[in-house]
Amino acid sequence: MIKYVYDFSEGSSDMKALLGGKGANLAQMVKEGLAVPPGFTVTTEACLRYLEEGREFVQSLWIDVETALERLERQTGRTFGSGPEPLLVSVRSGAPISMPGMMDTILNLGLNDDTRSALAEMVGDDRFAWDSYRRFIQMFGNVVKGVPSERFESILEEVRRNKGVAFDHQLDAEALASLVKRYLSLYEEVTGETFPSDPWIQLREAVEAVFDSWNTARAKTYRKIHGIDDSMGTAVNVVAMVYGNLGGDSGTGVCFSRNPADGEKKLYGEFLVNAQGEDVVAGIRTPQPIGELAKVMPDIFEELKATADRLEVRFKDMQDVEFTVERGKLYILQTRTGKRSAEAAVRIAVEMEKEGLIDRNEALGRISPEQVERLLHSQIDPNCVPEVISRGLPASPGAAVGRIVFDPDEAVAMAEKGESVVLVRPETTPDDIHGLYAAKGILTSRGGMTSHAAVVARGLGKPCVSGAEDISIDLEGGRLLTEDREFLKGDFITVDGSTGRVIAGEVPLSLPSISDELNTVLDWADEAADLQVWANGDTPEDAKRARSFGAKGIGLCRTEHMFMAEDRFPVMQRMVVAESLEERQEALDDLRAMQVEDFVGIFREMDGLPVIVRLLDPPLHEFLPKIPELDKRILEADSAGEDTSKLRKMKSRAESLREVNPMLGFRGCRLGIVYPEIYGMQIRAIFDAMSSLPDVDLKVEIMMPLVQTKGEMALLREMVESIASEYPQGSLSYLVGTMIELPRAALRAAELAEDAEFFSFGTNDLTQTCLGLSRDDVESKFMKEYVDKGIFPISPFHVLDRDGVGELMAIAFERGRKARPDISIGICGEHGGDPKSVAFCHSLGLNYVSCSPFRVPVARMAAGWAALGLIE
Ligand code: PEP
Ligand code: MG
Repeated sequence: MIKYVYDFSEGSSDMKALLGGKGANLAQMVKEGLAVPPGFTVTTEACLRYLEEGREFVQSLWIDVETALERLERQTGRTFGSGPEPLLVSVRSGAPISMPGMMDTILNLGLNDDTRSALAEMVGDDRFAWDSYRRFIQMFGNVVKGVPSERFESILEEVRRNKGVAFDHQLDAEALASLVKRYLSLYEEVTGETFPSDPWIQLREAVEAVFDSWNTARAKTYRKIHGIDDSMGTAVNVVAMVYGNLGGDSGTGVCFSRNPADGEKKLYGEFLVNAQGEDVVAGIRTPQPIGELAKVMPDIFEELKATADRLEVRFKDMQDVEFTVERGKLYILQTRTGKRSAEAAVRIAVEMEKEGLIDRNEALGRISPEQVERLLHSQIDPNCVPEVISRGLPASPGAAVGRIVFDPDEAVAMAEKGESVVLVRPETTPDDIHGLYAAKGILTSRGGMTSHAAVVARGLGKPCVSGAEDISIDLEGGRLLTEDREFLKGDFITVDGSTGRVIAGEVPLSLPSISDELNTVLDWADEAADLQVWANGDTPEDAKRARSFGAKGIGLCRTEHMFMAEDRFPVMQRMVVAESLEERQEALDDLRAMQVEDFVGIFREMDGLPVIVRLLDPPLHEFLPKIPELDKRILEADSAGEDTSKLRKMKSRAESLREVNPMLGFRGCRLGIVYPEIYGMQIRAIFDAMSSLPDVDLKVEIMMPLVQTKGEMALLREMVESIASEYPQGSLSYLVGTMIELPRAALRAAELAEDAEFFSFGTNDLTQTCLGLSRDDVESKFMKEYVDKGIFPISPFHVLDRDGVGELMAIAFERGRKARPDISIGICGEHGGDPKSVAFCHSLGLNYVSCSPFRVPVARMAAGWAALGLIE
């Protein structure tokens, strides 16, 4: 017989798949002798069977639940459903992978009119019993029956108003009793049923609701965003209630064993005196920082600190702990691996390695390439003096600029139109997840560092300021108000989640540098990795940045970018328009001097590291104005009585260069073959630069673009060799190689390798030509539709298409290596900076990936992860 119900004393932390994260960790804590309220877990397997077979399955499950509850009664000395000491339970979901705020919790289950009186009697507090009852009705009504929370809240607000009080805990027993009455009739009005007074029915419906919550839209969205498997199911934990709302010596809170925003090793969190669990996480009351607990309940604080440390050592990671203090006794309700910002992830991993808690590879596994990417997110430019309109809590680091939106759906709609938005809410709930995801940043006026908004924002790596209490938000009027200013929906605002500042308008952002800790981790990644990370860069500044980010070479220097500079463009145009070889040569001579300058700068920066210089690639018409633009200029010159002959010459050249499919036209090495003087100039400029740098350790490689035949490659190689022979013999050391950008080049790799000493996969063009898709056209026209329809899982221009392009790469790799065993093979298309694509390059056995300098740190981490088998 399959066992579907486990007491906490029967499980352990390695049973997460079956018991869920919460259940498994609770069981482990019981094993460790920590004060956990007793309870049991209904397994994820039960959930899956329920989702498949429906309520009938619960029938067969129920006998096990009943016996488990009987055991719980014996353990607590209380009875479920009757006095004198009624047993109340919480019913809490717990998936194998933590999904904070996604699933539902019901507290105080087991209350009805009779058990409420008994409870009042038992704790000697009538008010408390009414308060527990109204909370239960609200949670049960909302979670199990879908009665909107706002309906309960508005009644509560009305009662508070009538009583002239600001906070719930100021309501007396009588007020709460009347509230319960109104809640019960609201329940009846919305559901058409009376509130179930039988605790067994309550329990059963609650368990089913938790099972069902696995498939709510918000849970599905969360799983989609975080790539969590839909087929895991959730466990249900039934836990004897302990009460944090029994007066001044009770309370509840959430704490982290280290700071989840910056990683500092210090107990971090929040608590509320005289409150129940949901009050803290829901962000409804702004709680006190945990440090204050040391003043109010010093013994509890010390015990909590010691417990958090112990849990950290046990689970070898930063812990997020929920606790309740019931009349001076501490209970741990949950522990799990704490979500953290990317900054914190790095610091914690480095410090735990230093403390000997984890080893280097484990530490590396704690920081995903995506988190590294986030660390290179924007900060507020330190040179600007922003207008700070409010300060909240620095809930999730980084800065974001965007237009104010108050509604999550609207955030999505505006983001889809390409607008940057900041979602502004009093607080957020799990139903807002799509809006949080779409927004660039998040601002809430209520809630603490562990509020829903804060937790989710850190998980998503979005800047978030929470609990900015001096702003008020008028949701209906679409206004954000400070003491003296008003901002409307659509106005720009900046949030700085690193400092908690809320800033008026758009503020310039700057990129942060790499911290020492991140450098340490990236060095570990380099050590673990099999392939190197190089960078694409066209200028000495790029080279410098690439080096500072840890690039081990320049994998692609696109020389055409050098001609785009203001002072060079006209010279380039002269070259393009030239009608005779002499005329062209004259312009080329000027360009040569400029190119030498560029190469000298780059080679010097990259002293000791390889630099791959690619010769001119784009079609020549890209250097001329568009024909309508030329027509306009001719007309203007004409009417001003100026000489138009030059412009007309340019126009006729532009016309003669016009192509139907420029991507497949007169570009790449085809230019160098038809106009050898152009490539000749570039090759000489490279050699001139090399010759002028006797003190630099040069590793120069000359790369030909868009090659596909042996004839092209052989001819180009001869061209380089013949030019090299113009220089003193033995003075130049270089390699000649080719990009693999065309399917034919991939297939004929063996014969290309006879003349090419290295290959570099140009997967931008290789994707275009393999799939027959023009990137610039399809990305804006139909790619989204294709992705939405599931035809492509993601754009093949962002993540390498392994099945198609990848197969061509594998063929080229194998044939190239066979023909020339020492051939160096890398990638320089955009995919070189995408973690999944890097993992594929690792699996092929490439020597390096090359990507834009800013992606170098991400690619380094991805290379380390790939070698450790953490991404495939
Ligand atoms: C490529 O095609 O992948 C490549 C790097 O070249 P470019 O993007 O310059 O066409
Ligand atoms: Mg290309």
